[in-house]
Amino acid sequence: MTRRKLAAGNWKMNGLATAGVELEALIEATRGAAAEVLICPPATLIAAFAAKARGSAVAIGGQDCHAAPGGAHTGDLAAEMLADAGASHVIVGHSERRADHGERDAQVRAKAGAAWRAGLTAIVCVGETEAERDAGRAQEIVGGQLAGSIPDGATAVNLVVAYEPVWAIGTGRTASLDDIAEMHDFLRARLVARFGPATGEAVRLLYGGSVKPGNAGEIFAVSNVDGGLVGGASLKADDFAAIVKAAG
Ligand code: PEP
Repeated sequence: MTRRKLAAGNWKMNGLATAGVELEALIEATRGAAAEVLICPPATLIAAFAAKARGSAVAIGGQDCHAAPGGAHTGDLAAEMLADAGASHVIVGHSERRADHGERDAQVRAKAGAAWRAGLTAIVCVGETEAERDAGRAQEIVGGQLAGSIPDGATAVNLVVAYEPVWAIGTGRTASLDDIAEMHDFLRARLVARFGPATGEAVRLLYGGSVKPGNAGEIFAVSNVDGGLVGGASLKADDFAAIVKAAG
């Protein structure tokens, strides 16, 4: 099974309109890239970035969405609004949303369903804390999140799963290649068991947690790693372009 690699950048709460220069540089640097390229800027930049990136190798996504298509939800954004602004993907269940906003699996599942309703690809994030890993519970936690956070009806087009150990996000620490392989093989087996071999083998599994130009190549070569979800190193076009290249 060949899965095209995906390099996805999560800008988190970083970037003003002036950051358009980084997007422009990334568009230039990734022309003809073998890997799929995605930037998820803050929501304020989605429409402008989508307009700039049209016709390039770079797709634009959101970092979160509400489960409802509209209504009295001050400050929230519907998946339909992201699509309307030009997004093709949305990250749901990022550990920072789970921690900062108390998001639980059922809510993440509803958000993924909303993404599908709007025609977006949902990037569903799962990952254990350091305490959970130290307690030998990493697979139990991540397996539970996977089961609880993905609605029925997943396809290789509408779903990407990102395994992001919480303790590796923004810390400069990465999981060992053996631990990444073990978790990604486990997630692949769970996807196959739930969605059948055709879909389960085709859904892409990203690794996230301090991926940078210097370690991307070895991480992307690990079994069942189909690319990366990249925070800090996606903010600078040169760094992210090097990661995209490593994914190709
Ligand atoms: C992330 O934001 O999903 C992430 C993995 O961040 P970083 O690459 O900075 O660890």
